[in-house]
Amino acid sequence: MEDWQLLEKRLNNLEGRSYRDYRAIKENYAFPQFDLTVDYVQGDPFAAPSRIRIRLSQTVAQFPSQWLTDYVSQTAIADYLTRQVAQVAQSLQQKRGSGKSGNIEIAAPSQAILRRTAVWVDTEAIEVRLTVGLPAFGRRIAGRAAAALLCKDIPHLVERCLPYAALDHAALTCHIHNLEDAVALRSQLEPHGLVAFVAAGACLPRRSGIDERPLIGEADLFVPPADACFELETPHSGSVKGLGIRAGVTLIVGGGYHGKSTLLRAIEQGIYAHVPGDGRQQVVSHPGTVKLRAEDGRSVAGVDISPVITHLPQGGQLAEKSGRKSTASFSSANASGSTSQAAGLIEAVEAGAKVLLIDEDTAATNFMIRDRNMQALIAKDKEPITPFVDKVRQLYDDYGISTLLVMGGSGDYFGVADAVIAMENYQPRIVTEQARLIAQSDPHQRQPEGGQHFGRITPRAILPDSLPPPKGNRSLKVKVRKDTLMLGHEEIDLRAIEQIVEVHQVRAIAQAMIYAQRYYFDGQRSLSEVLDQVMADVERGGLDALLADSGSESWLVGNLATFRRFELAAAINRLRSLKTTQIA
Ligand code: ADP
Ligand code: MG
Repeated sequence: MEDWQLLEKRLNNLEGRSYRDYRAIKENYAFPQFDLTVDYVQGDPFAAPSRIRIRLSQTVAQFPSQWLTDYVSQTAIADYLTRQVAQVAQSLQQKRGSGKSGNIEIAAPSQAILRRTAVWVDTEAIEVRLTVGLPAFGRRIAGRAAAALLCKDIPHLVERCLPYAALDHAALTCHIHNLEDAVALRSQLEPHGLVAFVAAGACLPRRSGIDERPLIGEADLFVPPADACFELETPHSGSVKGLGIRAGVTLIVGGGYHGKSTLLRAIEQGIYAHVPGDGRQQVVSHPGTVKLRAEDGRSVAGVDISPVITHLPQGGQLAEKSGRKSTASFSSANASGSTSQAAGLIEAVEAGAKVLLIDEDTAATNFMIRDRNMQALIAKDKEPITPFVDKVRQLYDDYGISTLLVMGGSGDYFGVADAVIAMENYQPRIVTEQARLIAQSDPHQRQPEGGQHFGRITPRAILPDSLPPPKGNRSLKVKVRKDTLMLGHEEIDLRAIEQIVEVHQVRAIAQAMIYAQRYYFDGQRSLSEVLDQVMADVERGGLDALLADSGSESWLVGNLATFRRFELAAAINRLRSLKTTQIA
C-alpha cells in the first residue's frame, strides 16, 4: 500500500508523457479516509476507461450495524449508494481533455433495485467500483488534471456519498423499507395461493417505450376490484390492499387501449423491487414468472416441442435426413412465429418457470387460437399446431404452471380460464362468471384438441463447445448492449427477453455463459442442472465468482448485475452455436 501523496506526485510527474506511461499508477493507495486501488489502466484516451476501487471502512462510514448483517437491507443500501454516487459523479463530470478524459462513472442503475458489483456493503467496509477516463491532451498524459481527478474529485465524491453521516437518512431508510416491504409482499404470494399482486394506488404506465420512469400527471392510479381484493402485510406500511391474481389460468380482456398490456407489463416487472417513487413498489409477482412471446427468426436447438407442435410438413423422411423438421427434437436457424413461441414455452418449463405471461400483442395467433370455423375448414390432422388454448389447463394440472394472458381479440379462452379480468379505462373488473356463462351457452363450441395431458418435457444436455471458439489463445471477446450480446463473432438478439432491465445483467449473463461452458457444459448435465449450478455458485461467491478464474488479471469489475436463471437460459437457448442432446 502506497501513500496517496505518492499517487499525486506520480501523476504530476507524468505530465506530457506518452499515454501508455499511465500504467505506472496501477497500485493500492491509502488516502486519509479510504483506500483506492487502480485495477486497470486504459491503453489510450478513447479506449474503455480505467477502473478504480474505493474501500471505506465501516469505522469511518459508520452505518447502523443492524442493517449490515441482513441481506435485504445490505442490498438496499448498496443500491442506494450506487444511485448517490451516480448523481454526484455526474455533477463532477468535467471535460479534462480528449476522449473520455475526466469521466467518472458508476454502472448506471435502472428503476429496479438489484444487487450489482458496483457497490458492496458489509460489516467491515463499503466497496465502490468506478471507471475513470484518465485525462489526456491528444495522446499525451494530462498529469495535473489526473491528479485533480483522482486526488481531489474522488475524495470529494467519497466524502459526499459514502459515510452514513453525509446521507439523507430519511431517503435511505425509505429505500430500505421499500425493499423490505416488497420482499415481504412477494413472500406472501404463495401462502395466499397467488402468483401476482397489484396494490391499490400503484402507478403502472411508463413515460414511453424507452423511458421506464412512471407516467406522471395523467396516470390513473390502480383501483383493485372488491371481489378480487386481497390484503397482505408489510413490515413498514401496514396492511396493503390490492388485486390478487390466483394460481391457475387468468385472462385479461378488454377493449383496445384500456390498459391490458400495461397491467401485464407491470406484473412481468414484478419480479423486481422498484425504487421509491417508481409507482410499482408494491406490484409483485412470483419469482418464477416468465414472459413468453413469438420471436420469428430466432435460433432453436434440439427442443422437443411435440407437446404443442407435431408433424410439420417435411416432417417425414426429408426431415429424418436433414434432421431439422422433427418436432421431437426441433432445431431451426430461423424459427417461425409459432415454432419460436412453442420453443420458448418448452424452454421456460425446462428452466423451471412457474408462471407464464403472454400478451396477444406479441404472440403468434396460430399458436394461441384455432377457432370453430377453422376447425371445420382445416382438419386437425392437417394442422401441426395444437393451439395453446387446448394446452393451457393441462400445463397447470400436470406441472402446476400458471398462465396469465392478455387476450382481447378472442373469447376462445373463456372456457379454460379460472378467472377473467376486464380492463376498462385502466381499471380492472372481475367478469369470470359472465365469461363462463357465455362459454357454456355457446351452441357452436369448438372441439378441444389438446388431449388429457400436456405431454412430456424432454430435458436437454448442453454439449461442450457450444460457445463460439475464441480467436487464438485469447479469451472470448464479449460486447454487450441492453438488447444484444456479442460473444466472439456470435450475436444474440435479446430484444424478446423483456425481463432484462439493465445492460449490466447482460454483461453478467455473458460471463455466466462463458463460466457455464468452462465448468458445466459436459453433454451429461441437463440444462436445468447447469442453471442450478451456476446460480448456486453466484449465490455463494457473488457475481465476481463468474470472472475469478477468467485468466484476466483485473477481474473485479463494477458493471455486473444479478440476473435470474430464466434470462441466462434464454440467452443460452438463443446461441446459434448451441449444441444439445436430449436426455432419455
Ligand atoms: P391495451 O393493451 O389494452 O391496448 P395499453 O396497456 O397498451 O392498452 O395502454 C394503452 C395506453 O394507455 C398506453 O399508452 C399506456 O401508457 C396508457 N395507460 C395504461 N394504463 C394507464 C393508466 N393507468 N393511466 C393512464 N394511462 C395509462
Ligand atoms: Mg395491448
